[in-house]
Amino acid sequence: MVPDPAGPPGAHDPGGASARAVHAKADIMNTTRSPHCLESPSRLGQRRPRRMDRPEYILLEHAEASVVRCTFSHLAFSSSRRISTENTPPPSPKTKDNSLTMAPPLADLNIHIIGAGMGGMGCALSLARQGFTNIHVWESATALGEVGAGINIVPNLARILERWGVLHIAQAEGVALDGASVLNCATDETLTTVDFQYMSDEFGYPFLVVHRKALQKCLVSGAMDSGVVKLHLNKVVSEYDFENTRFLVQDRQKVPAGDEINGITEPQYVDADVILAADGVRSKARGAMLQRKGEVDSVVDTGQAAYRIMVRRSMINEDPELLPFFTGSHSYRWIGEKRHIIAYPIDSHDLFNMSTAHPDRRFVEADSWTATGSKKEMLEVFHDFCPRVQKLLSLVPEGDVLEWKLRVHEPLSTWVDHNVALVGDACHPTLPHLAQGAAQAVEDAAVLGVVLSRITDRKDINKALQVYQAVRKPRADWAVMTAAANGKGLHLGAGKDKDARDAAFKAADKKGGANPDKQIDRDVQRTLYSHDCAKEAEIQFEELFKQAV
Ligand SMILES: Cc1cc2nc3c(=O)[nH]c(=O)nc-3n(C[C@H](O)[C@H](O)[C@H](O)COP(=O)(O)OP(=O)(O)OC[C@H]3O[C@@H](n4cnc5c(N)ncnc54)[C@H](O)[C@@H]3O)c2cc1C
Repeated sequence: MVPDPAGPPGAHDPGGASARAVHAKADIMNTTRSPHCLESPSRLGQRRPRRMDRPEYILLEHAEASVVRCTFSHLAFSSSRRISTENTPPPSPKTKDNSLTMAPPLADLNIHIIGAGMGGMGCALSLARQGFTNIHVWESATALGEVGAGINIVPNLARILERWGVLHIAQAEGVALDGASVLNCATDETLTTVDFQYMSDEFGYPFLVVHRKALQKCLVSGAMDSGVVKLHLNKVVSEYDFENTRFLVQDRQKVPAGDEINGITEPQYVDADVILAADGVRSKARGAMLQRKGEVDSVVDTGQAAYRIMVRRSMINEDPELLPFFTGSHSYRWIGEKRHIIAYPIDSHDLFNMSTAHPDRRFVEADSWTATGSKKEMLEVFHDFCPRVQKLLSLVPEGDVLEWKLRVHEPLSTWVDHNVALVGDACHPTLPHLAQGAAQAVEDAAVLGVVLSRITDRKDINKALQVYQAVRKPRADWAVMTAAANGKGLHLGAGKDKDARDAAFKAADKKGGANPDKQIDRDVQRTLYSHDCAKEAEIQFEELFKQAV
């Protein structure tokens, strides 16, 4: 998988709509569609939701429900509530300046989103902001806990969050990076430094780093505050019926005794007009979609695993060698053969977040963000890293070492089947080496908001989803490949290639320019950060919609 360094189709072509359209057309051709995609009239416009206040305990409308808890402090509630589907007029969502948005033609579209991660909650917020009023999110976890470590809010993501009126939530605790350095892991020698002063000037936003919970908070509170999103926790979606736009759902675990409803409900089908499957890297929807095309859902094993580790400032005892990591606003990437550590302060400078890549020695259980790794093994993996790094690693509390396998997919042949579309990691799991996983998932969500708000007839849902795929797939696939290639370049062992890379690091312009680390390469940044995906979708919609069959 070798990405085109010039970027995805049309990346630097101001008049590139035609190039994109050609690509898009090819993608549309790849998309399966059958006459069955038309919604059966009996299911149309059935449900109009009542405005929901904030949920903590959420009862389910379809499967007789379990009671589950949302743990965000700002989303704390104390009573159970049954979701009604009675025909009261839904509220109109408000824009940032509190003016009412214009409702889309199909405002009461029955939208079901699978997965309450960044992609899923991004879709919920995007669609609520567009004026849709009947949005359900189904999540297998029993609570939306504050799980995770550092995540990047790069300008292409910040642009969307600001438009949705939630960027300030992340800004309140995020750190705007002043620059990034790449260092030799053994000697601690700086190979290159890029000063991010240009970031806000050129892209409109700084490079913000936050704890994942802050980004989650933006999307969850934004979506729930709209009053039109219903979040169903503790619900596992196990089967998809693509022809009939429905899915099978059941409780994941028994609800603890003492709550209002106790027990596991029978699996039930839920009917939808459109299903957005944002069910993550291990997506069941993707497997089912590919199986219907006779394709195998094959994972590319990168042979790499990652640790997510953090050190709290209170642990360093104001050690003058480590203090600048907390008080500064800089990102450090220590690189070595087959390994690297990228690190930066988050959480209002209270945490120093370290994210690694290293050979998968233990064949760790894939993708479990909560799988505990061994501190002893982690220290062994990085035993030859410089003393400052060793010092930081040794401070990580035992039991706080999370490890998981890094995996990617070859670009999928399709993201869409009938009225079901894949979103986020489900269709483009991206290695962390380009800081684009969450950004690309949220771009999907923004574009879905645009395309679904443009159609006036339910029979055009599939076509709108094809436009979504056509707009998003070339760019997301390019990001996946560029991230993978960046990992390879950073992990070179001794030899001519490494010497050439290190010479290029040394020659790189501090103010930004060509750089062997693609995350800080100015052209790659331009391609990623200048892009306004919603605007692009608006511009291209008409042409791509005509091409969709
Ligand atoms: C718990 C967690 C912690 C993470 N921590 C970090 C981090 O620290 N740093 C970082 O860069 N990235 C992190 N990520 C990954 C990052 O958030 C995603 O790669 C990216 O944001 C893309 O989001 P997504 O919505 O496509 O997928 P995800 O964020 O993975 O969300 C998928 C959601 O779907 C739910 N789901 C899956 N299958 C089903 C099913 N059958 N039925 C119902 N629900 C289902 C999952 O529980 C999950 O909530 C984390 C992801 C998770 C789930």
